[in-house]
This record gives sequence, C-alpha cells and structure tokens, in this order.
Amino acid sequence: MDTLEQEAHYCAHNYHPLPVVLVKGEGPYVWDDNGKRYLDMMSAYSAVSHGHCHPRLVKAMAQQAQRLTIVSRAFHTDTLAPFLKMICEMTGQPRALPMNTGAEAVETALKAARKWAYAEKGVAADKAEIIVCDGNFHGRTISIVSFSSEAQYKYQFGPLTPGFKNIAYGDVDALEAAITENTAAFLVEPIQGEAGIVIPPTGYLAQCAELCKRHNVLLICDEVQSGLGRTGKLLACQHDGVQPDGLILGKALGGGMLPVSLFLAREDVMAVFDPGDHGSTFGGNPLASAVALEAMKVLQDEKLVERSERLGAYMLQCLQAIQSDAIIEVRGRGLFIGIELDPQRASARDICERLMLKGVLSKETHETVVRMAPPLVITEEQIDETVAAFEQVLSAI
Ligand SMILES: *Cc1c(COP(=O)(O)O)cnc(C)c1O
Repeated sequence: MDTLEQEAHYCAHNYHPLPVVLVKGEGPYVWDDNGKRYLDMMSAYSAVSHGHCHPRLVKAMAQQAQRLTIVSRAFHTDTLAPFLKMICEMTGQPRALPMNTGAEAVETALKAARKWAYAEKGVAADKAEIIVCDGNFHGRTISIVSFSSEAQYKYQFGPLTPGFKNIAYGDVDALEAAITENTAAFLVEPIQGEAGIVIPPTGYLAQCAELCKRHNVLLICDEVQSGLGRTGKLLACQHDGVQPDGLILGKALGGGMLPVSLFLAREDVMAVFDPGDHGSTFGGNPLASAVALEAMKVLQDEKLVERSERLGAYMLQCLQAIQSDAIIEVRGRGLFIGIELDPQRASARDICERLMLKGVLSKETHETVVRMAPPLVITEEQIDETVAAFEQVLSAI
C-alpha cells in the first residue's frame, strides 16, 4: 500500500485532502515525497503565519524540550508568566487563560460568559443566552456545532446544547433585536474565515461594541484565525478600533509548531474562574509557552503584521487585476484573501487541484471560494509566482 492508500485504510474519513504527501517545509514552501516544491497558500488555516519550521521557533522548541516540557498546572513553571505577560501587553487584555486548541479556548469563553452573566449581571439560573452569527466557525465540539448554521456540522450529533441565538452576520439591527436581559455575550469573528473570508460592512464591529456596552453584554471576538497579523493588524478588531471584552486566540499563537490557544478578557470576566472551575492538562505547558513566547517575539522582530498589510494589499491588487469570467469577487484584508468563483464556470476544488499541479497549494472553502492565506513571511516574488499560476489555471479552464 502506498501512503495515500494506507491513510485511506486506517484513518477516519473526516477530511478530503488534496492527493499530495508533504514531507518537508521551510518558510512559505513545502515539499512532497517526490521532491516537488509548492508555495503554501493555506498555512494550515493561518496556524503557520511564521512560515514552516522557522529557525528561531525550532531552536526555542528544541531548547525547551531538553529542559522541561509538561508538568500540568498543579505546579508553577518559569515559562508561562513571561508568555502571558507579553501577549496581555500586546493585546491590551489584562488576563489570559491558556488552553491548547481553538475550540477549547472558545469553550472557555462560553463558560466565562455564562458564569459572568449569573455571577455579575444577575441573569436567572440557566437562562443565559449567547448570540452568534450565521456562517460562523468556532470549532467542532458538540456545544460549538450546536450553534453552527452549517447543517452538516451538527447533523446526527444531537442532542445539541441550548442557550444560543443565531443572527445574520454584518447586521447591527439584528444584534439589537436579539439582545434581551438574559444576553450574556455576543460571540463574533471580525472577519469570517471558514465562511469564505467574509468581511462585514465598515464600522460593523464598532457599532456592535457600542450596542454591547449599552446593554451590558460582553463582546467576545474569536480571532483564532484573523488574529496575530493575518489581516494586516495585530487583531482584526483593530480595523474598527474595537477593544473586545473577551478575545480568543489560537492557530498562529503556536508558531506553527504546537497547538496553543488563549482566552483573554477583562478583569471582572476572568475573575469568575476560581480554582477547580475549569482547566486543561496541557494548557500553558512549558514547551507550548516557550514556543508561543518566541513566536510573539518573531512576530514583532520580523514586523510580520506590517508585512501582511503591505503584501496583502499588493496580492489583492494583483488578483483583482486578473480578467476572468469565472471570478465573481476577490476580497481580503492583509494576507487573508478569498476568491469567489462562479460555480457555473469553475469549481473551487478543480481550481485547487490544477493549482497543485502548478506548485501552489490552496484549499476550497464551500465549493466556490479559493483561499489565499500564505505564511506572512512570503515575498513579493513568491506572490507574483502564485498569481501567475492562478491566472494560467483560470485561462486553461
Ligand atoms: C480554526 C478555528 C477555530 C477552532 O480551532 P481548532 O484549533 O481547530 O479547534 C475556532 N475559531 C476560528 C475562527 C477558527 O478559524
């Protein structure tokens, strides 16, 4: 059996990967098992913003791995506090709770919001509501898929978790109409990634923040994918000048090396957690903390946020200049770009398979969107190569 057959035989079929076996990565490049090189336009859904196997992160990881890796939070370690100090200062959030995957940090945010509603806001027991948006993606746990608007994500996974209210994304009036005295929080992605890089109207988040403040509702931004420079600002909510009450980070936080996530929040929100309320065996472990701290230093030292802003604008302009009947829209912010295709003329999956043959890896989102979200270390020349490959693929169909 070759690798593809073996994986198909032993692995659960919960993904539909492109038929390529990757064996090596460096910066924006990955190589397959035949030695063929590709530009990575996926960067693991933004987890690899620093590029593959960044030398400083490999070094930080190796050094920490030789010293101390996992002890659980039954004890203090010398790596957690420096990491949290840096990320709290960067984001302006006073406190952070470390977890591993994005979904776990979202679950943490949901728990914090509910407990805050009962303990601080005075909502009656078990009545707290959390407002979310259609088209959201916040992870795959049962509670999180309970409020997904994607039928497949929850089909036959019931009974589902109650206490969530869905509204249209980008619609401030819908938020105002949905808020009641039982509303604990509004959980929102400043730009919807998995929905196909959907950017809400200008000022949307600022208006939501104002509404939340007026009604004593927590604004919680899920920046697992949009955060840490992806959109050309450290946080996507900064495009609207918004400081959320709660903030969820993951993906790029681990520098493309390890799963590291955080829920960050205002003092009075984080204060609802007492010892024993919530936890994680691996959350905040020394290995993860050392790597994440170095990842945040690299983000600053290499000015990756500014790079994303500059090169993202360049790439967007190049892609928008392509003349093709198959393109409905090219949209994006920073190096977070989605190309919406006309399903009558092109399938996103087919485009991705053809791009792969030309040495560019991407992945379709919802059949009609091709995503261009490379590591933030990508160069202008590498963007030119990607755009040229995309143009060739479009003219060939
Ligand atoms: C990927 C993602 C998550 C879930 O992260 P996992 O690490 O896959 O659990 C949550 N929210 C958003 C916005 C994401 O893009």
